[in-house]
Amino acid sequence: MEGPLEKDAEKVKTKKSDEDRSKRMECSDGAEEVAGEMKKYSDVKEEENRDVHKDDVEVKGQVLPLPDAQPDKNLAIAAPKKHKRPAHAAREQDGRNDCYCWLCHREGQVLCCELCPRVFHTRCLRLPAEPEGDWFCPECEKVTMAECVETQSKAMGLLTADHLCYLLRLALQRMKHPGTEPFHRPVSLEQHPDYTEHVFHPMDLGTLEQNVMKKMYGCTEAFVADTKWILHNCIIFNGANHKLTAIAKSIIKVCEHEVNDIEACPECYLIACRQQDNWFCEPCSKPHSLVWAKVKGFPFWPARAVRERDGQVDVRFFGQHDR
Ligand SMILES: [Zn+2]
Ligand SMILES: [Zn+2]
Ligand SMILES: [Zn+2]
Repeated sequence: MEGPLEKDAEKVKTKKSDEDRSKRMECSDGAEEVAGEMKKYSDVKEEENRDVHKDDVEVKGQVLPLPDAQPDKNLAIAAPKKHKRPAHAAREQDGRNDCYCWLCHREGQVLCCELCPRVFHTRCLRLPAEPEGDWFCPECEKVTMAECVETQSKAMGLLTADHLCYLLRLALQRMKHPGTEPFHRPVSLEQHPDYTEHVFHPMDLGTLEQNVMKKMYGCTEAFVADTKWILHNCIIFNGANHKLTAIAKSIIKVCEHEVNDIEACPECYLIACRQQDNWFCEPCSKPHSLVWAKVKGFPFWPARAVRERDGQVDVRFFGQHDR
């Protein structure tokens, strides 16, 4: 399993990214649906359990763990935390939470999440009043929704833990774009002995990859939420205007873009990562509509409508439209 993973990672690094071909845009009025050679839904149904890329991924038939099986949540509710306290006092008191607001990255009177180490200013959350009782932060809410069988996305419903791990590793390869090297490994505590005085939850792309391999993320939201520690920590330690912070921001941007593509259609994402010449001939197990779409300054071009959302359509253009 190691071989093909590494090989695909190479491809991602060396070949032109397919994301150029994918543009979020409004579907034109003249959009036409083309029947093509789509499979019938009944055929698709039978194939749903088929491994979409069985050549590369060893599938053990396991499904995504249910929310209450997630390690994060089991850490949880052992003992209630104080909800509001000065940041420095917090460090001395229980050491289970960050001291810097997740949103503005500053200290002060903060609310502590019961499930994760994140803390927030009430004013940054725009809460009308301080919440009573146990409080769960917006990141944990998003992750819980995304991991719950009833509320999870279509994409997560289709993916096994092995598939998600594979796709997130591909995403990580793209997140390790040139210039991001300082974030590939944990910050050296020899070089920065005071690092952990400021940074409660160190994170880097290497650690993220290890977590992906351990299948710690039950959904893309959990992966994004953990990736955001890279930026949060960088702002705390280096400041908002440091050049490393600009790089950290670019990592988050790529991460969100990749995850958005995975959520749009995991199979299309895989095909795009593989950069096969005939990628547009491969139908997904739930085939997409074919449309005519255009980018400003270019003619209408045939495309695959990968996802519809808020009156907009994510499309992938066929062939080389971008000349
Ligand atoms: Zn804040
Ligand atoms: Zn939380
Ligand atoms: Zn697809």
